[in-house]
Amino acid sequence: TDMMSNANKPATNALLKQAHNNMPLGVADSYRYWGEENTVFVKSSQGCTITDADDQQFIDFRLAYGPIILGYRDTRVDQEVVAAITERGTISGFSTDLDSQVVELIKQMCPNIEKVRFANSGTEAVIGAVRTARGFTHRNKIVVVEGGFHGLYDEMMWKSDVDNWDSETEAAPKVTAFGGGIPEASREHLETVPLNDFAAIDEVFTRVGDDIAAIVIEPILGNCGSIASTQEYMQKLRDICDANGTLLIMDEVKTGFRVAKGGAQELYGIHADLTTYAKAMGNGYPVAAFGGRKDVMDVISFGKNGVTHGGTYTANMIALSAAKATLTILNETNAYDTINKAGVDIQQVLSRVFTKHGIEHKFAGPDAMFGIHFGSQVPHNYRDWKKTDSDLYTEFAHNLIKSGIMLEPDSREPWFICESHKDIDLAKLEEIADAAMAKAIAD
Ligand code: PMP
Repeated sequence: TDMMSNANKPATNALLKQAHNNMPLGVADSYRYWGEENTVFVKSSQGCTITDADDQQFIDFRLAYGPIILGYRDTRVDQEVVAAITERGTISGFSTDLDSQVVELIKQMCPNIEKVRFANSGTEAVIGAVRTARGFTHRNKIVVVEGGFHGLYDEMMWKSDVDNWDSETEAAPKVTAFGGGIPEASREHLETVPLNDFAAIDEVFTRVGDDIAAIVIEPILGNCGSIASTQEYMQKLRDICDANGTLLIMDEVKTGFRVAKGGAQELYGIHADLTTYAKAMGNGYPVAAFGGRKDVMDVISFGKNGVTHGGTYTANMIALSAAKATLTILNETNAYDTINKAGVDIQQVLSRVFTKHGIEHKFAGPDAMFGIHFGSQVPHNYRDWKKTDSDLYTEFAHNLIKSGIMLEPDSREPWFICESHKDIDLAKLEEIADAAMAKAIAD
């Protein structure tokens, strides 16, 4: 088809063919499989660019789904990691001085965080936060928001199937498992509500409020085009949690240390009881954390009711030295100003192109992580997103990719901006986007 990117890429095609013998779908993570014609193999990266196996260079707005906040191969971070592991080794299975140093940085940037535990991925951070909330409240139920994503473990592998929702005949999208291997029982404690819908959250709390351990929410839906909670809705969640003895968990795996020093909570001025972090906190090194109220976190302890948390690789020296370097830079330099300005400039370029082609469009979310929606309204939630022209977006995205602009060809994934994007050629981006949109419309 017209969408294929790998037509003249012998090295990429050979690598994928070999990989099919070695891994299901030929990839290490199923989301990396973009079909036989479009799956990408990366050879090198630098700043805001990646280079594929056939030497095509891309300006990357996908940034590995969000972790890259400074740029690829940032020497300030890399040198600190090398120094740390050269001296200390990678793990000892014991505590180190770095543990507290990184927590103190987090606490400085996110003033409502009182205690922290580390993890190795966003998934693990969410598992830890949810278990802690259950341990603290002695309740099981969890409320999640349609279009959010909280990691690859059974209980969170249920989604609102908006793709297959017939809004004419069905009141709400069905909640379905992400696929095979997810036991029906893992859904037992889950309640799902649409974002920004006051009646829906009231209904759940009226029905089962006494059983709800936590609301788990991405304050800005990093997995649904950066559609944001309104200020009023976030306040509503804070109030309904307080009124019901429920904890508010903000999953800031994508927004944390990206949209502001203190994440989305700084933008809203509303505090979660527990927060999860990963991605940007290590500029691409695998590090994650969860933390929040001291009284809640202190249920992590021994004894019958003590919550268990840990892991062999938790707070390893690669993760912590990367976090220390990244957070120090983010805290002490004007990186956020640079990132936000690049984000504004890029949105202006894209907006001009869409307007030129007569495409109604709305940007959603913060400048460091914005969603693009083709339609006349900013969607308020995942159900609304279905009304946007996501097919046009996907065509446009594939055309951009062929011309050296990397992004996820799905409008549910935002454009991620890193500090290195400050140097990109905006005129060239405009030219490429113009041609990509002209072709998308013609096809
Ligand atoms: N929470 C959110 C909001 C995420 O976006 C993701 C991953 N995209 C996760 C949790 C899971 O993180 P990880 O892939 O590091 O396990």
